Amino acid sequence: MSIRFEDLGLSKEVLKAIADMGFEEASPIQVQAIPHLLEGRDVIGQAQTGTGKTAAFGIPMLERVDARAKHTQAIVLCPTRELAIQVAAELGNLAVHMRGLVVLPVYGGQPIERQFRGLAKGAQIVVGTPGRVLDHLQRGTLKLQQTHLAVLDEADEMLDMGFRDDIEAILEKTTKECQTVFFSATMPPAILDLARKYLNNPEHVKITQKELTVPSIEQQYFEVRSHLKMDALFRVLDAHDYRKLLVFCSTKRGVDEVTTNLQTRGYQADGLHGNLAQGQRDRVMARFRSGGIEVLVATDVAARGLDVDDVECVINFDIPNDVENYVHRIGRTGRAGRSGTAFTFVSPREQFKLRDIVRYTKARIDQSQLPTLRDVTAIKTNRLLDQVRATMAGGGLERQMALIEPFLEDDYSTMDMAAALLKMLMQQNFDHGENQEDPLYAKPTYKDDRFGRGDRPDRGERPGRPDRGDKGDRGSFDRNGGARGAKGRPRVPMSRLFLNVGSKMHVEPRDLVGAIAGETGIPGRSIGAIEIHEKFCFVEIPTDMADEVIKGMTGSQIRGYKVAIEKAQPKQ
Ligand code: AMP
Repeated sequence: MSIRFEDLGLSKEVLKAIADMGFEEASPIQVQAIPHLLEGRDVIGQAQTGTGKTAAFGIPMLERVDARAKHTQAIVLCPTRELAIQVAAELGNLAVHMRGLVVLPVYGGQPIERQFRGLAKGAQIVVGTPGRVLDHLQRGTLKLQQTHLAVLDEADEMLDMGFRDDIEAILEKTTKECQTVFFSATMPPAILDLARKYLNNPEHVKITQKELTVPSIEQQYFEVRSHLKMDALFRVLDAHDYRKLLVFCSTKRGVDEVTTNLQTRGYQADGLHGNLAQGQRDRVMARFRSGGIEVLVATDVAARGLDVDDVECVINFDIPNDVENYVHRIGRTGRAGRSGTAFTFVSPREQFKLRDIVRYTKARIDQSQLPTLRDVTAIKTNRLLDQVRATMAGGGLERQMALIEPFLEDDYSTMDMAAALLKMLMQQNFDHGENQEDPLYAKPTYKDDRFGRGDRPDRGERPGRPDRGDKGDRGSFDRNGGARGAKGRPRVPMSRLFLNVGSKMHVEPRDLVGAIAGETGIPGRSIGAIEIHEKFCFVEIPTDMADEVIKGMTGSQIRGYKVAIEKAQPKQ
């Protein structure tokens, strides 16, 4: 069932934030939980990370707090500091248009004095780990007498970690009228027991799955860390040379970013999402149908009306949130008796979604390895040699032969000549030499693995200033690396520059490329990896152009914001 957020009776501030975040429709757990929570009912929800559960309780929470009153009106308990930061960041994003609303994360490991100050200034929503929340309650720096909503997030994990007593002590401090909500991936007896004690006639919500049949097309998945998905996409495109392919992202923002990155690398790509007017949508679809677009990037909603028969491949850049969408997506290929392939990128924290898809569809989705840079070079070399053969077979080479003649008089053989030409063609088009490091097969860095949950960058690096890690991921596309390497130019030494603009100011890769190329005259193609965070970003520039770019960009504006730019601190 598809439900628009507009139909849930939400305020315009929250709807605007949801639109900014690029959510197109409510996820199944949101569809089920939001109406009960808005009514003030206690809810016990079974949902895992990745299903949109934070927004499922966050959206109604924001609708039920008064930004003008400064006391703590809602509290969220999370098992770990990383989750507390992440939840606070998501709530902060949802509350971005609610003036005066403060979401404060409190967790162990951060200086408690800073939290005293934050609490004293007044935070309507507090998100914390049980130990630290209890500490504040005992010191009197946090009060729950006027708190009307308490959420336990990942309740099963909190119990497993031994927080039961702390949780009970905290819930005891809330009033009888306090709306209480549990979210948990599993529902062991201990949770139900706790629910019986603290929840008042709760509504149970759970994502129920029907069994679905998938079309019989070849399905494979690749394990890819989130920040390397763009490299992985280029790799698949380079290895297969598809003429008509659909890429699915879960948000409109994702569609825009992936489309821009593809276009910057010279692909005939366009995006389709709910923000486009009908006329624009029709034009994009017509161009895709006629072959004018090779890669169409779309959200689930936008692709629903898409009726194209000869799609060779579907790529799930983001694994879909529910099984039905998986079935719809991959059903776009292999139509009308043709063969088709579906690839799904799965980041470490999305493994469970893949398991669900397999469980409910009984589909066979084999794990596969992404082609290495060497594989791609070999594939492209073969393609090039085939073209050479075809050109020889076609004849009409007299003009070129006349040009070769003088070389032979200079003691070069035709073999030398052919090899040199091939080398030039390979270098221009795809060859990176033997020793180029393959980012997709590089060992994960400390940073990648920091939270042991796989792929959450940066979170927790700046306690108290949460960044939305997935946005950081999302904005991080290596525009020059990967197999195509900006049309195959050899790598040059790059410097990382820091700019004080980020996704909060709606800055996207194309704004950065446009501004840098426009202000400094350096070609957009020479710009390397771009990594966009909430309030800042990093851009890689060839080292010999870095000073020029700093000079040219200082004081310029991007999206109306004055730019400060400097060389970034080296990565740790
Ligand atoms: P969570 O289950 O709360 O960890 O959410 C997983 C990810 O899905 C987060 O990055 C959310 O921002 C995102 N998300 C939540 N709701 C939606 C939605 N309705 N559409 C697309 N993405 C969403």
